[in-house]
Amino acid sequence: MEIGKYSLGIGDRFGHQGKAQLQAILNAAATGVEIVPVWNKSNREHSYIHSKPEDTRIEADAAVKALAYKGQFFVDADHINLGNVQGFLTSSDFFTLDVANKIGTPSSDADINAFVASCKKYSGTLNIPGIAHPFEIDETLLRKVAGKFLAAIHEAGNIYNFIKDKKGADNFVTEVSMDEVETPQTPVEMFFILKMIAEQKIPAQTIAPKFTGRFNKGVDYVGDVNQFAREFEEDVLVIDYAVKEFGLPANLKLSIHSGSDKFSIYPEMARIIKKYDKGIHVKTAGTTWLEEVIGLALAGGKGLEMAKKIYKEGLTRQEELCAPYADVIDIKQDLLPSATEVDSWGSEKFANTLRHIPGQADYNPSLRQLIHVGYKIAAEQGEEYTNLLKQHHELVGKCVEENLFDRHLKRLFNL
Ligand SMILES: [Zn+2]
Repeated sequence: MEIGKYSLGIGDRFGHQGKAQLQAILNAAATGVEIVPVWNKSNREHSYIHSKPEDTRIEADAAVKALAYKGQFFVDADHINLGNVQGFLTSSDFFTLDVANKIGTPSSDADINAFVASCKKYSGTLNIPGIAHPFEIDETLLRKVAGKFLAAIHEAGNIYNFIKDKKGADNFVTEVSMDEVETPQTPVEMFFILKMIAEQKIPAQTIAPKFTGRFNKGVDYVGDVNQFAREFEEDVLVIDYAVKEFGLPANLKLSIHSGSDKFSIYPEMARIIKKYDKGIHVKTAGTTWLEEVIGLALAGGKGLEMAKKIYKEGLTRQEELCAPYADVIDIKQDLLPSATEVDSWGSEKFANTLRHIPGQADYNPSLRQLIHVGYKIAAEQGEEYTNLLKQHHELVGKCVEENLFDRHLKRLFNL
């Protein structure tokens, strides 16, 4: 099973926006750019919402049917491991093998020695076509890379084999992810990681490294855009070389996690994938949930009340809500408006403060990030929340579609 060149992860926490998300994909198709929708949802999201992997499949199938979509689409078991993959086997056909927490797990001396020996031909000066500066490879570096990543990729092999035995090798797409860590992987580390992936016979079609800079949830990239672009370009070239060198799937491409809202790096990504005629996968999820809150705020009445309630309760439960996302949010306390202040806001003011339009005077990234992690509060409201989504589905859906198409896809693919 081969995934198309361009693909977009469209997570949807509450499972009501499948059609609106697919409409954004269709809008892109109408301009001539085919993008494969991939509905992604992690085990963590399912557990907060009390949804099941089957629900994501049902949502995807229903959206595809309703809009008579004829293209390829997938359901991604996002960030799975051996402990939780079982529940995703029937409903998913895209699996993101998350081995970040195995990075640094020691491997046996025999395994490390064997890996170092197998890399002999790369010792000395390694030139990767397209990258101007050569990489110096010595045994110390190889031992370090093996010590850091060998066990993690071994684990990815175990998860892959487990899924393959259950589903059959040709019935799913495999991604290997290592993004939820503190230290970015360098392009040269990426090269040897890809060698390990090939040795484990994992036919990875997407790989999610940790990049330089901060990929905070639902807001723009924070970091040096030029440095990111350099690293991204080197990763693209490393992958191209590794595919040929190690016999990995020819369509292997980068996957960008926490990829929504990174407006300042989209033009660089667009430029580089065009330059080398490469594919890309970008995962977004929380940005759709935020549009639900924006849509409800715009609806006024009980919708606006709900939006305010989510924010105000979030204010009092910050520690609990932020803990699981500590590495991927950065909320400035002094920029969070008080509950009393928010109570005085009308629909437009609330929506403009939350909506991500760079340069909009009211836009407040701290409030946006707090609401981003506040989906647990909406989940606790149960039907009171989901009934509002149903009642205002047209308005909310419009927000979701506009956000994905106008603010994301147009920038990402130069539409
Ligand atoms: Zn991720």
